[in-house]
Amino acid sequence: MSMMKAVVKNQPGVGFEFAEVAIPEPKPGEVLMKVKAAALCGTDIHIYDWNLWAQNANLTLPMVAGHEAAGEIAALGEGVTDLQIGDRVAGETHIPCGHCLQCLTGEQHICANLKIWGVHTNGCFAEYATIPALCARKIPDEISFQVGSILEPLGTAFRAASESEVQGNTLVVIGCGPIGLFAVGSAAMMGASKLIAIDISEFRLAGAKAMGATHLLNPQKDNVVEAILELTKGAGSDAIIEASGNVEAIKQAFKYLRKGGRFAMIGMPGKLIELELVGEVVFKEAKIFGIHGRKMFSTWKSMQGALASGKLDVAPVLTHEMPMSAFEEAIQLAKSGLTNKAILMP
Ligand code: ZN
Repeated sequence: MSMMKAVVKNQPGVGFEFAEVAIPEPKPGEVLMKVKAAALCGTDIHIYDWNLWAQNANLTLPMVAGHEAAGEIAALGEGVTDLQIGDRVAGETHIPCGHCLQCLTGEQHICANLKIWGVHTNGCFAEYATIPALCARKIPDEISFQVGSILEPLGTAFRAASESEVQGNTLVVIGCGPIGLFAVGSAAMMGASKLIAIDISEFRLAGAKAMGATHLLNPQKDNVVEAILELTKGAGSDAIIEASGNVEAIKQAFKYLRKGGRFAMIGMPGKLIELELVGEVVFKEAKIFGIHGRKMFSTWKSMQGALASGKLDVAPVLTHEMPMSAFEEAIQLAKSGLTNKAILMP
């Protein structure tokens, strides 16, 4: 059996190991991807840290970590006819069951039996990874493997911007981690007028500026509510994309959401939030909606079109590229807030 190097979570507790494991074989309906680039995500760090979320996420150990990747098809499982060896692909992480209500009504991305690639299955921090053929999305030659590896988080942000109807409108993006930065870039391309980015990290705010933010607010220095009301002549922001998961920031956002405004929720707060529903939601007619990943596959089509045309450039977010063996360094950089997106090369 031939072997490969992989970043493996062997047991509960903190840490990953760089280990030799068997190259997996694609099952019927799956393909084998030769991984060319993989990206580190906060979810991987939760699994590394083995925090409360990871302990309760139905993980099966040992597992190969990682769920953001692009590569080439190296082998086809039985019954796969729409992909060929050598095809360049990126991974969609949402693995749908294909037969629940959502799957049958065009909402596979919120399948009732949803599994996440690299969370509930072995992932892509390895030389090779298996993935359902449905989730191996072809990428055009204009999209590099490095950019291909971030299509999963980019798609989440791109869809949030799209559903926030930002064109000609004011948008506030709360939290400028990779998802927030991708939301800023997507909204700038879609024609947001004022694009206000909020974060407590000056490093991340600089990233937001590079991605097209017109105004930067740091809650440790600025009065966020006053500043946004002033920028919008007292009306409040037309739309908000929440990508911080910060409870106080979310509560505060209802103070500057305009009447009739749209509020996209992506961040995942660790506790419950109290809202004053009458004034801040009902009378305001706030349109609040969750975004869980990409539409399969209309978001992929639009996002890839935007990237391939050069109209959307994500380069400022891809701050680090390193060998996969240096995953520890990438995790520590991410934890210290000194990287936006770190790309690991097998
Ligand atoms: Zn389903």
